[in-house]
Amino acid sequence: MSARAAVVDLCRGLVARGLVVGTAGNVSVRDGDTIAVSPSGVDYASLTPEVIGLHALDGTAIDAPLRPTSELALHVLLHTREGARDGEVVLHTHAPASTALSTVVGEVPLTHYYAAFFGGAVRVAPYATFGTPELAAHVLGAMAGRTAALMANHGAVLVAPAVEGALDRAGYLEYVCDVALRALSTGLPPRTLDAAEIARVARALDGHGQPR
Ligand SMILES: [Zn+2]
Repeated sequence: MSARAAVVDLCRGLVARGLVVGTAGNVSVRDGDTIAVSPSGVDYASLTPEVIGLHALDGTAIDAPLRPTSELALHVLLHTREGARDGEVVLHTHAPASTALSTVVGEVPLTHYYAAFFGGAVRVAPYATFGTPELAAHVLGAMAGRTAALMANHGAVLVAPAVEGALDRAGYLEYVCDVALRALSTGLPPRTLDAAEIARVARALDGHGQPR
């Protein structure tokens, strides 16, 4: 599948999973020296691969029939961060639990071992207006040693290693946030896991599932 077609599938998948409302959220896939990125404010149901923009690694449009997502700077920064790899996917959602949690904590408490999918406790990047370089920089900082971050009073973002499994990652992130939010909502102090356990789980998840 082309990176453009993958962006369309991922956008529709975010809608189907209830992780975005309206035209919110955005998606990109790195393919060699190009980034395929979803356009700004287009109904996901009407997306076709031809309208997905192709951009160079500095964000310059190569073939972009529509205006790109307002968070293009964020996608470019994450696809060119230290350690970035070809084929990676960046998903940005406005899912309700992660967005709600972003308004009350500075870091997602380790209430569930799935935090291991994201390299540990997911941090909340400080608020800045959507689409600004400041917001992109805040998110990059919050993602040090992690593959996900919350954006204060806004939403969530994650980097997945490949198109396959990327939507599941987004679902796990929302689940982790939902669990923490519900636990905190009781008013009781949640019992949390420590970093050593999260590291142990990360190793176990590596070998989990069916052998390849
Ligand atoms: Zn957003």
